Amino acid sequence: MSERPRLSSTWFDGRSPRAQVCELRIESHELVLRVEADERRYPLRLVRWAERRAHGQRQSALPDGSLIQHAAAGEWDAWCQASGQRDTRVVAWMQSWRATLMAMVATLVFMAVAWTWGVPWLSQALAQQVPRSLELRLGQQGLQQLERLFLEPSALSTQQQEALRDRFKSAVARAHQKGQVPDWQLSFHRSKALKANAFALPGGYIVITDDLVNLLADQPDAIVGVLAHELGHVQHRHGLDLMVRASLVSALLGLVLGDASGFLATVPVTLATQAYSRDAERAADAFAADLLAQNGVSPSAMVVFFERIRQGDKPAGAAVEGDRGQRLPIAISSHPDVDERIRFFRQWRAEPARP
Ligand SMILES: [Zn+2]
Repeated sequence: MSERPRLSSTWFDGRSPRAQVCELRIESHELVLRVEADERRYPLRLVRWAERRAHGQRQSALPDGSLIQHAAAGEWDAWCQASGQRDTRVVAWMQSWRATLMAMVATLVFMAVAWTWGVPWLSQALAQQVPRSLELRLGQQGLQQLERLFLEPSALSTQQQEALRDRFKSAVARAHQKGQVPDWQLSFHRSKALKANAFALPGGYIVITDDLVNLLADQPDAIVGVLAHELGHVQHRHGLDLMVRASLVSALLGLVLGDASGFLATVPVTLATQAYSRDAERAADAFAADLLAQNGVSPSAMVVFFERIRQGDKPAGAAVEGDRGQRLPIAISSHPDVDERIRFFRQWRAEPARP
C-alpha cells in the first residue's frame, strides 16, 4: 500500500482552548491523528467532516468531542481528495439529508399549527366570501334533504302559522334599521324525529317544528327568541362556516373555479354530523337576546324554552327520554350547556353605548 498523504493541522482536545499541532492521515477506515507521540484513531464514519460547501476554514468534529480546525480550505480539500476520502461527499449528503428531515419535521409542525388555528380562520374568511346565490343553493339543497329525511307537512292552522310569522317579522324589522333587515323564510313542519326543535340553514331558511310551537303556545316571546337564535346563526354564517370547514378543499376549489358541485355534494354529511361551536352558540344567543331587548321584551323570556325542552320528553305521549331530536346536531334542542344558557338569558344586560 502506498504511503498515505499526511496533513499538518490544528487540533483542540475539546477541554482546553489551546490549539495543538497535529498530523492527520487516513488509513483504510480510520482517521489517524498524531499529536507529538500520541496517536489516536477514529472510525471514518464517526467523524463529522467539514462540509466542502462551507466557506473559510474547515472544521471537523471527532467522536470524542475534540475538533480539527484547518485554516486553508483548499489545502484541506486537496488532502481529502488525495486520501481517497470520497466519503466526505457522502457525509455532506448525509448531513444535508438530516437537514432535510429537520425541515420536514418543521413543515409537519407548521401544518399541524395551521390546521388547528389556520383552518377555523380560513373557513370563516371563506364563509364570508360565499356569494349569496351559492348560499341560497346550499340552503335549498339542505332543506330538500332534511324534508325527505325528517320533515312532514305541518298540522298547524295557516292562521296560527301566519300569526307567528307576522310576529317574528315585525320583531326582526324593529331590531334592524331600514335597508338592513336580513332575509329569512320561516316554514313549519311536523317531525317525529326532531321533536320540539328549530334549525336554520344558509340563505335564511328557518324551520320550526309543530311540537316546539305547541310546547311554547302560551309563550310567543320565547318562540320569537328561538327564531331569533336561528336567524343569528344565519347572520353570522355559522352554517356556511361548518360546510366550508367540513369540505375546505372542495369549497376552495368551488370558489376559485366557480364550480360548487363538489361543495354542494358535502351538504348532507355536514348536516348529519356537524354541530356549531360553543362560540357560535353564544353569538346566536346574544343575537336573540339583543333582538328581544330591542323589542322591549326581557331576554329572560327564553328561559322557559330551555326549561320546557329539558323536561320536554317526560310528559305523557312523549318519546324516549334523553333523545331530544339529536339527529340534527345544528338544531336548537341538540345544543348542550342548557344551564349556562339559562344563566346567560337571565343575566343579560344591554351593552352600554349601543347606537
Ligand atoms: Zn344554535
